[in-house]
Amino acid sequence: MVAGVGLAAVRGRKWCNWMCPRGSFADTYMKVISPGRKIPGWLRGTPVRLAVLAFLMAMLTFQIVRLWPDPDAIGKFFVILLTITTVVGVFMALFLHQRAWCSICPIGSLSSWVGKNRFPLNMDKNACVSCGLCTKTCPMQLAPQEMKENEAMAFKGDCLKCGLCVKACPKQALHFQG
Ligand code: SF4
Ligand code: SF4
Repeated sequence: MVAGVGLAAVRGRKWCNWMCPRGSFADTYMKVISPGRKIPGWLRGTPVRLAVLAFLMAMLTFQIVRLWPDPDAIGKFFVILLTITTVVGVFMALFLHQRAWCSICPIGSLSSWVGKNRFPLNMDKNACVSCGLCTKTCPMQLAPQEMKENEAMAFKGDCLKCGLCVKACPKQALHFQG
């Protein structure tokens, strides 16, 4: 958690790209069997993310205080928590999208808020021909193409800095700043 959010202060959600085991698992394996449906906007909105973050942090604090100072019991609790959240993530991938969990993951949400303006993806609007290839390739279902018309891409804090859209653009219209 510290590594992910710490890196976000410099590079945005880069941790979630391939350093997070769950993110790598989603892109490598779940992508093959996920229907890849659209992640609803409400699921990646602040109220839901705050609720998930608050619930998990409250449970974590309560259990650590309750089990203190037994390291075995605390360790078992962490294994159970990680197993449950992984199962939830797998179900979200099976019925929605391989990266759906990443929309509500507490580390992802914190990283998204902390690193929103770090290492931003920018567009040369004159070069863009609105072909949409960048949007099609994004593993987080973001739409870099939007930047041609809008000031910023929606949910830009969720950009994983993976660079797939940059590579996909036939006009070299996208680049990272910094
Ligand atoms: S494809 Fe582009 S917009 Fe999407 S996560 Fe990767 S770098 Fe960010
Ligand atoms: S791939 Fe490049 S040219 Fe096509 S919409 Fe995206 S930024 Fe514009």
